[in-house]
Amino acid sequence: MDASEEILRKTLAEKQSAIEAHGNAVRALKAAGAAKPEIDAAIESLNGLKLEKTSIERQLQAAIGGGDSSLNREAFRQAVVNTLERRLFYIPSFKIYRGVAGLYDYGPPGCAVKSNVLAFWRQHFVLEENMLEVDCPCVTPEVVLKASGHVDKFTDLMVKDEKTGTCYRADHLLKDFCNEKLQKDLSISTEKAAELKHILAVLDDLSVEELGAKLKEYGITAPDTKNPLSDPYPFNLMFQTSIGPSGLSPGYMRPETAQGIFVNFKDLYYYNGNKLPFAAAQIGQAFRNEISPRQGLLRVREFTLAEIEHFVDPENKFHPKFSEVVNLEFLMFPREEQMSGHSAKKIPLGEAVSRGIVNNETLGYFIGRVYLFLTCLGIDKDRLRFRQHLANEMAHYAADCWDAEIECSYGWIECVGIADRSAYDLRAHSEKSGVPLVAQEKFPEPREVEKLVINPVKKELGLAFKGNQKMVVEALEAMNEKEALEMKAALESKGESEFNVCTLGKNVTIKKNMVAISKEIKKEHQRVFTPSVIEPSFGIGRIIFCLFEHSFYTRLSKAGDEQLNVFRFPPLVAPIKCTVFPLVQQQHYEEVAKVISQSLTTAGISHKIDITGTSIGKRYARTDELGVPFAITVDSTSSVTIRERDSKDQVRVSVEEAASVVKEVTDGWRTWTDVWSTFPHHSSGSVEADE
Ligand code: AMP
Repeated sequence: MDASEEILRKTLAEKQSAIEAHGNAVRALKAAGAAKPEIDAAIESLNGLKLEKTSIERQLQAAIGGGDSSLNREAFRQAVVNTLERRLFYIPSFKIYRGVAGLYDYGPPGCAVKSNVLAFWRQHFVLEENMLEVDCPCVTPEVVLKASGHVDKFTDLMVKDEKTGTCYRADHLLKDFCNEKLQKDLSISTEKAAELKHILAVLDDLSVEELGAKLKEYGITAPDTKNPLSDPYPFNLMFQTSIGPSGLSPGYMRPETAQGIFVNFKDLYYYNGNKLPFAAAQIGQAFRNEISPRQGLLRVREFTLAEIEHFVDPENKFHPKFSEVVNLEFLMFPREEQMSGHSAKKIPLGEAVSRGIVNNETLGYFIGRVYLFLTCLGIDKDRLRFRQHLANEMAHYAADCWDAEIECSYGWIECVGIADRSAYDLRAHSEKSGVPLVAQEKFPEPREVEKLVINPVKKELGLAFKGNQKMVVEALEAMNEKEALEMKAALESKGESEFNVCTLGKNVTIKKNMVAISKEIKKEHQRVFTPSVIEPSFGIGRIIFCLFEHSFYTRLSKAGDEQLNVFRFPPLVAPIKCTVFPLVQQQHYEEVAKVISQSLTTAGISHKIDITGTSIGKRYARTDELGVPFAITVDSTSSVTIRERDSKDQVRVSVEEAASVVKEVTDGWRTWTDVWSTFPHHSSGSVEADE
């Protein structure tokens, strides 16, 4: 807990006890019939204590971000969302039929922002790393998602209102309870506050039993009705369907795009000249039947994912381009810091990898690239952190996992997951399909290698374990070298060994006659192995929503009577790069505007020409609300002005140059500072009179 918060909570508790003691003293004086001046003095001192308590409460509220600041966050969000919906950045889907929770349409400027974000993603990742892009179907046969584990395990824990049947996500209810207590109940003790904070830190780590116990312990009920809740139980988030008319071939709408890449590994590896490392990438829709979608674009039931699967030799996770990101320094939130209640801190990426905080260079490289991607888009670097998954939160097979979290009015939101998933996915699909999804390293000279050979004796195992024989055989074959050698030693010394078969969920006793374990020297010409995969997975809608919030601000109109909304999108992201206005409605100005508009079209710059007679200030305000970075105003037939949105500075350029100057700055070849120092300045004068 923050030191100032801890001190304030303690002081508040002391003040509360002092008030109670003083209150008792006043009552005692009154009961004893004390003189009026004595009673008045005691009341005055009591009132003084109450005032001090109020002041401490205010300080505490400010320290924990509740009260006014949470109201401010909501008001800010409302202002952003109102602007976004009014200007059709996005629209609740099927609105005329009252919409469906968790489904949204992107309107024209929203589509443009999304396509700019995706274009930059392709440039920053696919082009930069020579990735192999694929585009696979959303409808996926069951066998694929059975192999990947989604059919059995892609679940969230749900609770139901026992009377109405309304469903809620169990962890969200616990999270809301803790946040609400921490922010609104100032009377809780320092110890209680620390306990609630600890729960928030380990929320994703709680088992179904722990979560159920906490809901009970805190008496959490259904938020809408206050009815009792069921125990939590897993709910599979996939939308089920069937493929073809017979209804006999079950399928699902894919919950992620990654599986399409894994099942194509063999062909992609061949396409890449049978060489590692290489990455494949895919952008596409993903579907998750979220239990209770809320938070607008942040938690939806259909969304665009952009995923990278970088395949690498598990024995060589160095990255040749790591030096390009080694000096980046940004907020990181390692597991230990979370568990001990500390906050995220700035760590140089090179140090994070060399100290083993980040598992390996390739994972570190992608963390660095994701940081650059998000900040280039306009995400505020001080509201971006990389949080490491806690032990239980991470899948058992994963080597390490970090989420890029962005802070917005809803708190810290996971927008990109960056995981080292080891060889899990390829192994799972190899086993299920029978097609080996492996890579080879050819040796220049054959090598003599000592190989561990595990030979389960199926007949004996069958006699001992009957129907479970297959699972015991598989588990024996899957032993790593250390386990196998330990078993060998135990079999030789004691004649038997206790062995955990995780697929059976229990220990079995292996006898000496059931398995032969030996080491043999063999000549090998190549090494065959299952590659590890490092997967950065981007939720495009979440990134865009955070970008909207980080780009939004209001400024006072020149007359001082109106708050004007502005999105400070970088040109890269802006849905429209430029507007063209004739200053007044005159035919020769309109013709110049049309000529410039044509040049912008030829240069591939999205723009909007506005020849309505509306005042120029109003036209600027309208386009600022769409985040248009540049405006060309035609006020003569030979030269025009270009205005930059945030500074409102204007330069004068010739009609012929106008489109190319805008193109240079929007494409990032030139900065506005450079344009400002090159061209004559134009002072707004009457032009911005009503801005
Ligand atoms: P995951 O596979 O759960 O790690 O999700 C990958 C990314 O998808 C996350 O980092 C989020 O950005 C995004 N995401 C996951 N679920 C949703 C959702 N319901 N709505 C929008 N984006 C989501």
